[in-house]
Amino acid sequence: MTDKPLRIDVLTAFPAVLTAPLEASILGIALKRGVYSAHVHDLREWARDKHRSIDDYPYGGGPGMVLRPEPVFDAVRAISAMDSRSPRIVIMSPRGTRFDQKTAERYSLMERILLVCGRYEGFDERVYSLADEVVSVGDYVLTGGEIPALCVIDATVRLLPGALGDEDSAALESFTTGLLEHPQFTRPSVFEDMQVPEVLLSGDHARIERWRREQAVLMTVRHRPDLIETTSMSDADLAVVEGFERKRDAK
Ligand code: SAM
Repeated sequence: MTDKPLRIDVLTAFPAVLTAPLEASILGIALKRGVYSAHVHDLREWARDKHRSIDDYPYGGGPGMVLRPEPVFDAVRAISAMDSRSPRIVIMSPRGTRFDQKTAERYSLMERILLVCGRYEGFDERVYSLADEVVSVGDYVLTGGEIPALCVIDATVRLLPGALGDEDSAALESFTTGLLEHPQFTRPSVFEDMQVPEVLLSGDHARIERWRREQAVLMTVRHRPDLIETTSMSDADLAVVEGFERKRDAK
C-alpha cells in the first residue's frame, strides 16, 4: 500500500462525456485538493489505422458496430504501464455484477482502478479476458459506459477521506449503515402547513438520535424491506419493524 491518493483511469471513446462531471462540485473539488487523481484516455489514440477506427461490423451479421479488440488491448496495457501501481481493471457492462455501496467502499480502499467504457453494441467478447471485474449499474441499457463509470467514480470518491466537508455525512448515509437514511429537514420550520417534526427543534440530542434511528428503520421497512433482513438490528429496531407490520396488516 502506498500513501498516494487513489488513481482512477477511464478509457472511453467519448472523453467529453466525463469532462464536466469530473470538474464540478464535490468531484471537482476533491480532484483539485488531490484527494484522488483522474485520467481520462481517448480510445481512438490506440486505433491502428489512419481513420482512427475503433469499431467494426459484427461477425455473423446483425445490427450495429462492435468495439474492436486491438485498440482496447493496446490501450489497457499502455495505461496500466503509466504508473507503478497496477490497476484493478473494471469493465462497464450490463452483464456485470450490480454496483452497490459495498463495491464503492471496496474501491475506495484501492490504489488504482481502470474503468473501461463500451459504446455501440459493446465489446468484442475477447476484451472481457482483460477484466478483473465486470460491473453493471442496473438492469437497463445505456448508450455507453461513461455514465456508469461516473456513477462508480462518484460513489467511490465521496468515501475518500477529505472528499466531503463533514466525514460523518458518508458514514450515516443510506446503505452505509445497512438502512436507508432518516428524513432530513431544513428551514423554514413550517412550509405550506407542513411542519418539521417537533423533536428536531427540541435541541435534545439523545431524543433526536433515537428519532432518527426509528425513522431510518421505518423508511427502510417501507421502501426497501429486503435490506432489513441483512442489517443487524437492536431490540428497539425490531420493535419498530413489528409496530409497522402490525399497523400495515390491520389496514
Ligand atoms: N449490446 C449490449 C447488450 O445488449 O448487453 C449493450 C451495449 S451498450 C449499448 C454499450 C456500452 O454501454 C456497453 O458496452 C457498456 O460499456 C455500457 N453500458 C450500457 N448499459 C450499461 C449498464 N447497465 N451498466 C454498465 N455499463 C453499461
